[in-house]
Amino acid sequence: MSEDALALYVHWPFCVSKCPYCDFNSHVRASIDQESWREALLADLAYEADVVPGRELTSIFFGGGTPSLMEPSAVAAVIEAATAHWSPAPDIEITLEANPNSVETARFADLARAGVNRVSLGLQSFDDEALHFLGRAHSAREGFAALETAQKHFRRVSFDLIYALPGDTEDRWSATLAQALSLGTKHLSLYELTIEPGTRFASMVARKEFEPLDSDAAAALYELTDSMTSEAGMPAYEISNHARRGEESRHNLTYWRYGDYAGIGPGAHGRRLGMRTVRHRKPENFLSAIARKGHGIAEEAELAPGEAADEALVMGLRLSEGIDLDAIASRFRLGSVVDVAKVEELARLGYLKHSGTRIALSPAGRLLLDHILGEIAAPQPSVFAAA
Ligand code: SF4
Repeated sequence: MSEDALALYVHWPFCVSKCPYCDFNSHVRASIDQESWREALLADLAYEADVVPGRELTSIFFGGGTPSLMEPSAVAAVIEAATAHWSPAPDIEITLEANPNSVETARFADLARAGVNRVSLGLQSFDDEALHFLGRAHSAREGFAALETAQKHFRRVSFDLIYALPGDTEDRWSATLAQALSLGTKHLSLYELTIEPGTRFASMVARKEFEPLDSDAAAALYELTDSMTSEAGMPAYEISNHARRGEESRHNLTYWRYGDYAGIGPGAHGRRLGMRTVRHRKPENFLSAIARKGHGIAEEAELAPGEAADEALVMGLRLSEGIDLDAIASRFRLGSVVDVAKVEELARLGYLKHSGTRIALSPAGRLLLDHILGEIAAPQPSVFAAA
């Protein structure tokens, strides 16, 4: 990854309804003034371009929320401005997350004309009952139709599925996954259903309206996912993401490889020039910040070297390729970023692969990511004196 490279994340904060498992920054509003939102995003973008000038733009990612609800002309305006502020890489990846409702599917041709070259579809399930449980606003039939339309308009199409729903079995999930792998996509995001605090599902579980799948059964489904996708030539390159070689999400690789990215729009996070940024989460607060200051930043702070190295470790260990410990240490001018004795112990136990200066999680280790991070993080990394 060149030091010059920059990725851009654009957050569109609106959805038609709130899914009961969702803890993203998404909001439902009776009406949305698309014109004001386009102008606000362009202002936020121009601010970032002033702060981080002269970079090569390697990817743009429209996430949300439901960015397929954006007017394609607003998507086009953001792409046009971003590629004018920065130099676009010849193979720039421009992804947009889409829901498979018919209204949104009808916009795919215009979104492709706007410059989007990769779509990530939130199919989530092929089963109407499961879609109903997940509070999704589309049917399985609409999902298949959206995938077909997307594959006509975009060269790269990924889709998401959620597994480990209450009552899920290995038989049911392996049938779903086999079907998913037969649909001609080269990238899949496969997420285990987790009950996040503050969501409607969390309240339902507290009221005992349903019981989540137990962790052993969920781990068995994870292992099944790992083996089926590997056999099909789409192994996990990250905990929940699977791709054929070369079809990985370049944008998300920038996050996991700890590259620089600008984040604009409500609640967007960014990290560039050693600074972490967070935008105002609530859409109305974001708009008023833009009107007052010309940008939507709510917090901006310098990342201390130890903190940045810890983050790089957390992000990098999500990847199958793992991380180069020496590269992180020298990048942040630190003596060491891990407790080496712990790394060796976990490698002996089969949770980590350790080769030269690189470490990566084994499949068994991936199930224990948080625990392993807690074990290996160096207690107090020492800082070299600046040369
Ligand atoms: S569509 Fe996506 S972002 Fe919107 S509420 Fe559902 S899960 Fe959350």
